[in-house]
Amino acid sequence: MAASGRWWDEEDNRWLPAGEVHAWEQGTNQTVCGLSLHRSRLSRFAAVPWAEALPESGGAADAVRRVCPRCAAAAARHAGARPGWRRTNPRP
Ligand SMILES: [Zn+2]
Repeated sequence: MAASGRWWDEEDNRWLPAGEVHAWEQGTNQTVCGLSLHRSRLSRFAAVPWAEALPESGGAADAVRRVCPRCAAAAARHAGARPGWRRTNPRP
């Protein structure tokens, strides 16, 4: 994934995304929705799975303020192709 900001998680010893997050595939220099990583000043998080950045998953989403809807839709389609994967929505 790629994000507009990042912070250091001392418990896990890794950078975690902050601000707005986009899906990003390793080996490309743009997000899944077509933003240039460089021009949009996005940081890459190769070690953080996309699902962890979603607020409903909790894992790495503490500082995530916005999930790009186009990337989320693309990632959901991608993940939906795998059997056994279910999207969970927290109750308000
Ligand atoms: Zn995006």
